[in-house]
Amino acid sequence: MTHLYDYTGKIVLISGAATGIGRATALAFARHGATLVLGDIDNRAEHIVAQINHEGGRAYFQKTDVSDAASIKKWVDEAVNRFGRIDVAFNNAGILPPTQPLAEQTEADFDRVIEVDLKGVFLCMKYQIEAMLKGGGGAIVNTASVAGVVADPGMAPYVAAKHGVIGLTRAAALDYAKQGIRVNALAPGLVSSPMTQRWLDDPTLASALLANSPIGRPAEPEEMSGIVLFLCSPGASFITGQVYLVDGGQTAH
Ligand code: NAD
Repeated sequence: MTHLYDYTGKIVLISGAATGIGRATALAFARHGATLVLGDIDNRAEHIVAQINHEGGRAYFQKTDVSDAASIKKWVDEAVNRFGRIDVAFNNAGILPPTQPLAEQTEADFDRVIEVDLKGVFLCMKYQIEAMLKGGGGAIVNTASVAGVVADPGMAPYVAAKHGVIGLTRAAALDYAKQGIRVNALAPGLVSSPMTQRWLDDPTLASALLANSPIGRPAEPEEMSGIVLFLCSPGASFITGQVYLVDGGQTAH
């Protein structure tokens, strides 16, 4: 029997791969044999490529802005040109708005968060699914958030975008279930990453954020990758349209 997490020969696209959850998951896929195609606006993704290649894996980075359809199309097309198909996509790029109540959020901040966090996932899936249909199927995981299931205070644009990511995930899962494409969402709780560093560096804020956490600590980015590898594996062949809360029990209350 083949090993469940054997990604040898599989082509895996990851957006938002330069740091945090995307970086950790790229390394995990590479260590299980996958060929990685990293997309990010941050050139530090080159360091991950170097690390993967140093460890004997295969990866390349293409500068990609998930809020720009042409940039995403180039990212997907280049992968198909090089390898003939794509097997897995982890749509993980995301940004936060300033933390403030709804009426103090600007229209520009709302638009930008929707553009990157929600429309970015739509555009990525649009081009990835076209390629996966030609290749005979695939698996997609979109990064939502606990804020896609319940609201966090002071984050209205993000809460709206992440609820939308869960909607898009379910819609895509229904549209392509019969064509061999599974689509699921990861909903992380608080993860220690560049996105949250300034919160976690402030002891008062950090203890307020963790007050409701049964586990009582933020996750490390590596703690998000196991579920992504599982969901894209043959072990998850009957799982589609679902949301996986990886939140240290935060929403179990
Ligand atoms: P991070 O800031 O380390 O990673 C986000 C990545 O997205 C970065 O590499 C960044 O350069 C990239 N990115 C931003 N805008 C982009 C764009 N327009 N095009 C391409 N790439 C872009 O943070 P992270 O914690 O690893 O976040 C990864 C995902 O997890 C995000 O979608 C975030 O919303 C989600 N998330 C994070 C937490 C947390 O507590 N850290 C919790 C729930 C959900």
